[in-house]
Amino acid sequence: MIRAGGLVAFPTETVYGLGCDALNPGAAAKVFEAKQRPTFDPLIVHLADRSMVETVVTSVPLSAQRLMDAFWPGPLTLILPKQPAVPDLVTAGLPTVAVRMPDHPIAQALIRTAQTPIAAPSANPFGYVSPTTAEHVRDGLGERVDLILDGGPCSVGVESTILSLAGARPELLRPGSLTLEAIQAVIGSVDRATLSDETVHVPGQSPRHYATRTPVAILPALGAWPVLRGRERVGLLAMSEPRDLAGQFHTVEVLSSSGDLREAARHLFAALRRLDELGLDRIYAEPCAEQGLGLAIMDRLRRCATPA
Ligand code: AMP
Ligand code: MG
Repeated sequence: MIRAGGLVAFPTETVYGLGCDALNPGAAAKVFEAKQRPTFDPLIVHLADRSMVETVVTSVPLSAQRLMDAFWPGPLTLILPKQPAVPDLVTAGLPTVAVRMPDHPIAQALIRTAQTPIAAPSANPFGYVSPTTAEHVRDGLGERVDLILDGGPCSVGVESTILSLAGARPELLRPGSLTLEAIQAVIGSVDRATLSDETVHVPGQSPRHYATRTPVAILPALGAWPVLRGRERVGLLAMSEPRDLAGQFHTVEVLSSSGDLREAARHLFAALRRLDELGLDRIYAEPCAEQGLGLAIMDRLRRCATPA
């Protein structure tokens, strides 16, 4: 199906991807259409082995090689200068391309069997909470995808970390499941593009993303419960088992009973979807410290909480 220009949704360790042949512009157009994704938002190209890198990238600096050695396969996406063979639609007209090697046997088998790099954004309608199960994909995209490969729930649950190595200095474009600390341990200091930065040059880094239909508000601190108005039906997205709730919440979703960030990341999107399905007036989300995986979790929560 990939070779015929079709769309195949597949599991990765981060979230489910909506894949197409990365070298076929017609197939890429179908991905944008199925997701209703704006064409200024470029796709990540997924590779099964290092020999595929040179088919899409013109040069691999030493820092990129060291990061690939350390973290591929895994949730690290690198921005590098692109080969002309990569269609402009895939990179939104940029001279660079985003590449990663997913750490999932089904994703790797799909890419190997198709014998082509696979461009894949998350397999959900643009802007909504990312899919971490095959059911999430079916719920969101239904008939718009030719095939869904079901690999069960994703083991990591938040998207890859995106690092640009195309500029003068390495720059973190999106925090993700590979921690900034781990990257810095390999290549030293990394600049950070922040959402509030007016010079944000990352297409698709819209402040509002990963968003539920229900409004989300982030609590000022762990355990700082809001004073609720009488008739509001509110849900709580708790980082760990909450102590005294006084039954004021309609529903509580606990991301990790022990407060483990990996477990929290794995459950984040599914919990947000379950809360969103209840038609609540509001979802309150507990914050976590912005260290390690907490940086990516807070990034997703903030963007989900940004009003439309
Ligand atoms: P996703 O939506 O998780 O598939 O991730 C795709 C994101 O990767 C885009 O929204 C961009 O933020 C980023 N991206 C992809 N290609 C590039 C590129 N060439 N330069 C900068 N950022 C990119
Ligand atoms: Mg996405």
